[in-house]
Amino acid sequence: MRHIPRKRFGQHFLADAAILDRIVAAIDPGADELFVEIGPGEGVLTARMLAVVARMHAVEIDRDLAAGLRAKFGGEKLLLVEGDALALDFSALPEGLRVIGNLPYNISTALMFHLCTFAERFVDMHFMLQKEVVERMAATPSTPQYGRLSVMTQYWFEVQPLFLVPAAAFRPPPKVESMMVRLIPRPADLRGLADAGLLKRVVTAAFSHRRKTLRNALAGMLNEAKLVELGVNPGARAENLSLNDYVTLSRHLEKL
Ligand code: SAM
Repeated sequence: MRHIPRKRFGQHFLADAAILDRIVAAIDPGADELFVEIGPGEGVLTARMLAVVARMHAVEIDRDLAAGLRAKFGGEKLLLVEGDALALDFSALPEGLRVIGNLPYNISTALMFHLCTFAERFVDMHFMLQKEVVERMAATPSTPQYGRLSVMTQYWFEVQPLFLVPAAAFRPPPKVESMMVRLIPRPADLRGLADAGLLKRVVTAAFSHRRKTLRNALAGMLNEAKLVELGVNPGARAENLSLNDYVTLSRHLEKL
């Protein structure tokens, strides 16, 4: 019996062989590389990957789909965690993983923040996401798309938008266009902070009042004189600061 897509799990299954070809070409899997797939669903991408690699990890929340995946691939080839990727401790999986997935769009932002906390363990990530989410990840300062997701993603990863995927490539088609993106972890010396938790706090405070000036939005953390000393205009807004500005502010707090 065919699986009836569940809306609550953001299920839109890839049903376009040419798009699958493009995704696999973008991932360019090597036979001895380690992969984890988030949300394999009915296993269309999984099958393509397992034609190249002997085994891979995956995490799928839907019990029925997980049973189907076990039946299709067996537990030797597909090391499947049946559960919530948002709660998965990726450090329990081997280091040096390449992460892939046509992600459930309803949790994509939360999932990105979760994956950022494990960024150093990953070789790279290739995801299908809602086009708007990729645009937010890749956004530059002083644009409407620039926000918390842009700063945090760009702190951890180099963001490479790859190609657009039309809604018609999925069953059922989502209401939005999709886009493939490649994320490559940035080296520690380029990131520059011992504690990314501070960056998250500063960025969250700044963007929680997007229309406020930084003088007001960051009042509880950094006073006006300190902002000036650190080269930040207190009259600017969160969206005007670059990643480097946020790192400078966080580095100052780190020293306190
Ligand atoms: N990869 C499949 C494909 O391309 O056809 C399915 C993609 S579908 C957009 C998203 C998949 O993620 C579904 O299989 C869904 O059940 C699964 N999923 C949704 N929420 C999840 C979660 N929190 N953790 C793990 N898997 C999840």
